[in-house]
Amino acid sequence: MPPSESPEATPVSSGPTGNRLTVLSGPSGVGKSTVVAELRRSHPEVWLSVSVTTRTPRPGETHGVEYFFVSDAEFDRMVAAGELLEWAEFAGNRYGTPRAPVEQKLAEGTPTLLEIDLQGARQVRETMPAALLVFLAPPSWEVLESRLRGRGTEPEDVIERRLAAGRVELAAEKEFDLSLVNTSVDEVCGRLIALMK
Ligand code: 5GP
Repeated sequence: MPPSESPEATPVSSGPTGNRLTVLSGPSGVGKSTVVAELRRSHPEVWLSVSVTTRTPRPGETHGVEYFFVSDAEFDRMVAAGELLEWAEFAGNRYGTPRAPVEQKLAEGTPTLLEIDLQGARQVRETMPAALLVFLAPPSWEVLESRLRGRGTEPEDVIERRLAAGRVELAAEKEFDLSLVNTSVDEVCGRLIALMK
């Protein structure tokens, strides 16, 4: 299990202009990455952290854009060196947020967004208490399940693991500062941007 708190963590949670760190979390399949892709397109002034992962790239994913795809050994090295702000194991792969770029963007006063899972959001809550934690909720469980299956990129056992994780994540919604229901990507982006500024 990842540490709930990293000894190297310095509580840098907002920059000189008051922009704070925003965390977007929610169950796998809820549409977080669609929201992030739309934000990247329509709001280039927001900086989106690029995570490292040991997962294999999906078709269309590019190293350095959606993720930095790294080996298990490289991930181990980053954890040992304290280079990750938070990290978690999710459905058989590891994911983490590189610390240095986040600290740099916050220090510059750039609005900064992390798209991470529940375990990561909990770690950020501990190490950066001023961060705003936003939960992206599906309109219903049925919508979430059909989105995960419809993606068609994962085998059945991976889908089952993601659905199981989704049940746990949905139950944690009340731990977040606020929830946005993903009824429309534009609406969610608009509300997120308003919250970040
Ligand atoms: P996916 O494999 O579908 O891209 O991501 C699986 C899950 O990992 C999603 O819930 C996503 O938010 C989460 N995730 C992506 N990057 C990170 C990260 O850096 N840290 C943590 N804790 N979770 C992450």
